[in-house]
Amino acid sequence: MPSVRKGDTVQMLSGKDRGKQGRVVRVWPSKGKVQVEGVNQVKRHEKLRVGRGRAGTEGGIVTKDMPVHVCTVALVCGSCHRPTRAGSEPVEGGGKRRVCRKCGGAL
Ligand SMILES: [Zn+2]
Repeated sequence: MPSVRKGDTVQMLSGKDRGKQGRVVRVWPSKGKVQVEGVNQVKRHEKLRVGRGRAGTEGGIVTKDMPVHVCTVALVCGSCHRPTRAGSEPVEGGGKRRVCRKCGGAL
């Protein structure tokens, strides 16, 4: 199960956006993929589509954030602001919480 969740800040470990940080906007746990804001952007040339229900669709170049594999991102700790691995720690009363393996802060 990917340890990255929607709303997390992650840092890219590989690819053209290596070192870049962004917020996770979508997670596909079954595919092991995440979509990170402003990362792995592609430019698409969209054709102007004229049709019903398409009002407001502009033709031209649009940028899209493409999903990346969860293996290529590292979770960034909100406490120490370093890329880290998430550990888990039992919580009083049952359940577990994610913690930063570097500073021990909650993620
Ligand atoms: Zn930390």
